[in-house]
Amino acid sequence: MPQTLEPQELTAVPGEATGQETDALHFRRCVWCRSATEHSRTLCRVCGSSELVEERSQGSGAIGWTTRVVRTQDLVHRIRQTCFVALDEGFTVPATVEAQAIEPLPNGTRVRLADLGPGEEAAVFVPA
Ligand SMILES: [Zn+2]
Repeated sequence: MPQTLEPQELTAVPGEATGQETDALHFRRCVWCRSATEHSRTLCRVCGSSELVEERSQGSGAIGWTTRVVRTQDLVHRIRQTCFVALDEGFTVPATVEAQAIEPLPNGTRVRLADLGPGEEAAVFVPA
């Protein structure tokens, strides 16, 4: 492990992550250790640096753990699963997974971002 940390080249395209996009998940990446951090955080959770740059997630990940499952009466064989999704970039977001299923989807199921509507309290994912 190197004793001195140098900021690494940033791969983000200039200007791409600065707009007010509502159709994508954003997160913050530490300039020093490259760790991904939830967008709401202001300090890197690994090294404590405040030098974070905003990046856009590809929206693919896996169910980390589930907190609640709601079965609607209107739609048979359809569930709304409140859970946390671990994105491929290395951060976790609260999410709702909607699926054509009877049983809750197990942890580790691959999901992709479906909707990030302003009225939703959590991002909506569907099975990938
Ligand atoms: Zn860091």
